[in-house]
Amino acid sequence: MSQNVGEARKEGAREAMEMAEAARQKQWEHPSFLAGLFMGRFQPELFFPFPQQDDEDRRVGDAFLARLEAFLKEKVDPDRIDETRDVPPEVIQGLIELGCFRMKIPAEYGGLGLSQTNYNRAIAMVASYCGSTAVWLSAHQSIGVPQPLKLFGTEEQKKKFMPRLAQGAISAFALTEPGVGSDPATMQTTATPTEDGKFYILEGEKLWCTNGPVADILIVMARTPSLWVGGRERKQITAFIVESSMPGFEVAHRCDFMGIRGIQNGLLRFHGVRVPRENILWGEGKGLKVALITLNTGRLTLPAACTGMAKRCLSIVRDWASERVQWGAPIGHHEAVAAKIGSIAATTFAMDSLTWLTSALADRGGFDIRLEAAMAKLFCSEAAWSIADQTVQIRGGRGYETAPSLRARGEKPYPVERILREARINLIIEGASEIMRLFIAREALDGHLRVAGDLLKPELVWKQKAACATRAALFYAHWYPRQWLPSTPWRRFVSHEPFAHQLRYVARTCARLARSTFHAMIRHQARLEKKQALLGRLVDIGGDLFAMTACLARAESLLRQNPGDSTPRDLAEIFCCHARRRIDAAFRCLFNSDDAGTYRLARRVLGGEMTWLEEGIVRADFSARPAAPSAEPHAETAPTAPEAAAAAVHS
Ligand SMILES: Cc1cc2nc3c(=O)[nH]c(=O)nc-3n(C[C@H](O)[C@H](O)[C@H](O)COP(=O)(O)OP(=O)(O)OC[C@H]3O[C@@H](n4cnc5c(N)ncnc54)[C@H](O)[C@@H]3O)c2cc1C
Repeated sequence: MSQNVGEARKEGAREAMEMAEAARQKQWEHPSFLAGLFMGRFQPELFFPFPQQDDEDRRVGDAFLARLEAFLKEKVDPDRIDETRDVPPEVIQGLIELGCFRMKIPAEYGGLGLSQTNYNRAIAMVASYCGSTAVWLSAHQSIGVPQPLKLFGTEEQKKKFMPRLAQGAISAFALTEPGVGSDPATMQTTATPTEDGKFYILEGEKLWCTNGPVADILIVMARTPSLWVGGRERKQITAFIVESSMPGFEVAHRCDFMGIRGIQNGLLRFHGVRVPRENILWGEGKGLKVALITLNTGRLTLPAACTGMAKRCLSIVRDWASERVQWGAPIGHHEAVAAKIGSIAATTFAMDSLTWLTSALADRGGFDIRLEAAMAKLFCSEAAWSIADQTVQIRGGRGYETAPSLRARGEKPYPVERILREARINLIIEGASEIMRLFIAREALDGHLRVAGDLLKPELVWKQKAACATRAALFYAHWYPRQWLPSTPWRRFVSHEPFAHQLRYVARTCARLARSTFHAMIRHQARLEKKQALLGRLVDIGGDLFAMTACLARAESLLRQNPGDSTPRDLAEIFCCHARRRIDAAFRCLFNSDDAGTYRLARRVLGGEMTWLEEGIVRADFSARPAAPSAEPHAETAPTAPEAAAAAVHS
């Protein structure tokens, strides 16, 4: 019996890997800084000189942001939204009128057609103030219908849906299911074609769909009939444009969270929803690719949101740590607190640099952004969480107290407690950190897998393997020695003074990273994919090198614009020092770590060998069946957003 379960799990894992692999973008048509970095090719010219927003685009963005800021200050109360779990309808209506729900819709369809940079500037501003409001906008435009429709929609689909979206129809992206989080291979929602082939009948449920309870139009991923290739089943996932007005669409439950409590997010059910064939996006079986490619650019927004939050923390910390006096000095003058402030400032500068760099690269085009977007998301979400945590610490007891409580007793209502709760979700959505590291590692290894990947495939015959071995030997005979050559003579990068020494470090370390990645492949071969801790360290080294380069390029550009201001140089220098310390530590334990021991320990914990360690706690029983889902978990704070009345069964 347990052997059968084991076999089924193995088969499931194989299937999941195959589906993920099939959905990958295989070609690298444009350069990628990170793809090069992991192969030992440092390409600073891709980031230097730091790309600037052009004057006209900046003017458009400035004007829009001025209106947005005024609206936020006047109409949006983030603490009230957090308390009531509700972004009031008049706020949503105001944002619609301001154009916030059509920022990324092309002008030809009635949208504002903002650049990625201006869109991200707007999201960063909103996120710095109210996480819930930012998520409403971002779920609609970064991953909701406008983005995949723009990328994959036919002209008819665009003409039909874009103008509605531009006029304020709210949209959502529905991929996750109760049993399907990071691994879509097990998707249960089905779309079965009718006999005449004109419709697909949607059955199933989608969990945690942001904007779902109030959405008019959704992108829904569902399984369509499998293909059979060589006697083996190949599962098909297809993306559909679904309207919530279609009979059989139900909002079964509105979910409630730790933070971003004003979002509308729910469990959706589809009971025989008839979706016209023409609502398929891109083509049958391409749904997972639609989802992954949508997320590749959608992910550019999260770094902006995180950067907005980090800046808010920086400003709170600056105020508070100079004003609060303990032990005869402002707390910011005590070294333990000052170390945190310096680190927050330097990391915020790195996040800011990554955000505007990736936004600019997306706007400029001709650059493969998938790795950089994923790395920026990973780096900025983890950095924002750490910054929020340090801000709580610097605020002491007040960091743990809610803003309304602080306000009620006459203190400045810094919303640090809310920011901490809001920051946490960014490490989970749009690719959890662990999955991001695996995704980046897979792409980072692509250069090697293209050359030598066939050697790892058990299904290939020896002739094919021999051909691959010859190819690999020729390639590595050139490539490998180059990773040992001193690539950084002392005069290199002199034109980038005062940053040359840091750039030389990045160049040197890039070769070391490439060598180490290659050594990891040789050592673990096909098992490398299971060595997640090792892969994670390699990815984190790449992330810090990426952030260092972005920082240095930005600092140089700022210094050239204003040679009298040394602050960008100092911020970059301190960030680089901290990053180098992390990188050197990661290299030190790259192979000699306790990964295997820790893994074995975890397996023994899971196997129940150490339950004695849990003695002394209340043995709460979480196995009870939950009550039947309801769309309104808290009657007293029921959703009141524009279409929330429609957060009911459309059937
Ligand atoms: C507030 C909120 C908003 C959301 N909005 C949307 C939305 O609009 N649309 C939508 O489709 N989804 C949405 N989601 C779902 C979100 O994208 C998922 O939560 C996320 O993909 C992770 O899936 P999961 O929670 O099921 O975690 P699981 O996949 O169950 O993973 C649990 C943990 O295990 C780790 N893990 C899983 N597999 C592996 C592996 N192979 N190797 C190493 N570690 C692994 C994960 O990283 C995670 O830490 C939302 C979720 C929340 C909470």
